[in-house]
Amino acid sequence: MTEDATPTVKRFEPPIGTASAPFWEATRDKRLLLPWCTACERPLWYPREVCPRCLDSAIEWREASGRGRVYAVTVDYKPQNPALAALGPYAVVLVELDEGVRLLGNMVGGDPEEVAVGMAVAVTWEPLSDGHHLVQFERAEP
Ligand SMILES: [Zn+2]
Repeated sequence: MTEDATPTVKRFEPPIGTASAPFWEATRDKRLLLPWCTACERPLWYPREVCPRCLDSAIEWREASGRGRVYAVTVDYKPQNPALAALGPYAVVLVELDEGVRLLGNMVGGDPEEVAVGMAVAVTWEPLSDGHHLVQFERAEP
């Protein structure tokens, strides 16, 4: 038996917990679901067992538009994770979805230095090794 002396660096793949399981299951079909509190009729992010506003546990999953605007952006010129080194530079964005919650992701395509606060974006998907998909964003028509 031989061992490879070079450690394999993998891209981080998010752990799936009980509260986020419906979100991740929907990503298999590239569908973006958000948890909604049915007591105060507002979405919440990140997924959890109770609403952080009213503490009600009446949470249901609803499909989101997948559209929003860049709320904040930074460009990573030299990714420290070797698995991401070939991707740099890339823009990391905090996107405020039309539903009102903010999700973090990377911008796909285009010049990362042209990404600006207020830019219209839409969800796109990066496949993960287990069949799930990771939320990413791409520029969209306003
Ligand atoms: Zn609530």
